[in-house]
Amino acid sequence: MKHKFLEIARQTLPERAVDDRVNDYQEYAMRLSDEAVKEQAERCMDCGTPFCHVGDLIGQETIGCPIHNYIPEWNKLVTKEDWLGAYHRLMETNNFPEFTGRVCPAPCEGSCTLGISEEPVAIKSIERTIIDRAFENGWVTPRTVKQRTGWTVAIIGSGPAGLAAADQLNQMGHHVTILEKADEAGGLLMYGIPNMKLDKEVVRRRVRLLEAEGVRIRTGVNVGVDVSVDALRKEFDAVIFATGAQKQRTLGIEGDDASGVEMAMDYLTASMHERKGEALAPRYDAAKKHVIVIGGGDTGADCVATAIRQGAASVVQFGKHPSKGILRGVDRPWPLQPDTLTTDYAYAESLAVYDEDPRTYLIRSNRILKESDRVVGIETEQMKKIVNPDGQASFFAIENSTQVYPADLILVAIGFERPEQELRRIGVEKTKHFHTVQDNVFVAGDARRGQSLIVWAIREGREVAEEVDSFLNTCQERLKTSS
Ligand SMILES: Cc1cc2nc3c(=O)[nH]c(=O)nc-3n(C[C@H](O)[C@H](O)[C@H](O)COP(=O)(O)OP(=O)(O)OC[C@H]3O[C@@H](n4cnc5c(N)ncnc54)[C@H](O)[C@@H]3O)c2cc1C
Ligand code: SF4
Repeated sequence: MKHKFLEIARQTLPERAVDDRVNDYQEYAMRLSDEAVKEQAERCMDCGTPFCHVGDLIGQETIGCPIHNYIPEWNKLVTKEDWLGAYHRLMETNNFPEFTGRVCPAPCEGSCTLGISEEPVAIKSIERTIIDRAFENGWVTPRTVKQRTGWTVAIIGSGPAGLAAADQLNQMGHHVTILEKADEAGGLLMYGIPNMKLDKEVVRRRVRLLEAEGVRIRTGVNVGVDVSVDALRKEFDAVIFATGAQKQRTLGIEGDDASGVEMAMDYLTASMHERKGEALAPRYDAAKKHVIVIGGGDTGADCVATAIRQGAASVVQFGKHPSKGILRGVDRPWPLQPDTLTTDYAYAESLAVYDEDPRTYLIRSNRILKESDRVVGIETEQMKKIVNPDGQASFFAIENSTQVYPADLILVAIGFERPEQELRRIGVEKTKHFHTVQDNVFVAGDARRGQSLIVWAIREGREVAEEVDSFLNTCQERLKTSS
């Protein structure tokens, strides 16, 4: 048992064969055997000061698990084959481990002490196994709320932040109603993250549980259009805006109004609607098309994987930054994420289907070329990145590096706007720490932090719930003293 980390190699969840999985939209990650997961948990050193669960920011960087999962503790329970104990310990800090166990980028692993000298513990794979096993064994059942407080809370938005806040407040005994403008709950878990990363039945299963526990969910309600913030403030004792930060940045270059230039979120959402049996509009169908994805991030990668499944003739992804290194850079010491070059699912698929990594680096898109208003190509320039001694980066175009890529479909995935303007448009003005200028209106999740991660959204949901609960308790005290 001692020093298992010296004997056992890291093993994460196996993946389906690439040439098989590109034919469907089912999840690409599979399960490990219980025995293999137990061995992986045995690699945990049970450090005196575990950094994996610190969960804070150094600058903009997340160190460890933002929801402070008790990782060494559930690892130990798994080594003892106490899967039920591990499940209960996991649920103390994480409302939705079935989401994070599938799609969290696992900052915990970047901060794992073993990672200083060896490969880190496969924390995310262990987490997913614990929760999947709990569902399979029937341990995850609706928890009855024994006593209701009588207070009512409206939550606008049903992404992970809204759902986590709803779960917490409902268990505290408050009456919770979620208002969601989409036709189905889940936020980006439902419309955004593709099915091959996170099966939508996994999202629906959790939504059904919350409803069975008493959370009311009203879909198809666009707050600010169908109902005003003032009306909600009158109807409910507290209102939380967990509306995300989904407004995408636009290209703003010549020709970007051509038909065939689409926003990544519209494209991914259309693909999800197709999974639900709706017809896919031809503009969102990459079949036989030469596809360019502008933006080197995860949203871009999800577009690559979707275009491959639709049967694109070719897919190229433009990144603004240089390629990452194979090894952790000197500027990224532990416990920062190593941020090395990895071949994520979409890139492995591109290599298998087209024999090419779709990623190109240091590319600036200058002009979209069109014929009769339809995109036919894109003109780019190769850039050079120079970092000055203060760490400030500048980009310069390399002379005579202009290149034209043929394109029938261009997907724009260059990031998201800050959420403030969208909130103001609805009538919400943020102040600080989850509060707004109106005393019973709160903000959480991407709507507060900007586009982030599911694990941060869960943390925000949990923290705003605490804030709302103490606000309602103050109201209770005021009522008592005035009566
Ligand atoms: C393509 C893509 C892939 C991603 N992949 C990952 C990943 O692999 N791992 C990871 O950790 N993170 C990932 N993220 C980020 C992650 O999904 C978000 O950080 C997270 O979902 C934010 O949660 P949220 O609840 O704050 O907001 P959202 O999930 O954006 O939910 C907000 C909800 O509010 C609703 N809403 C907005 N305005 C109104 C209104 N006026 N009235 C009613 N409802 C409204 C929206 O319809 C939406 O359902 C990804 C993001 C994208 C775009
Ligand atoms: S939620 Fe993410 S950061 Fe936290 S333990 Fe799980 S994989 Fe790691």
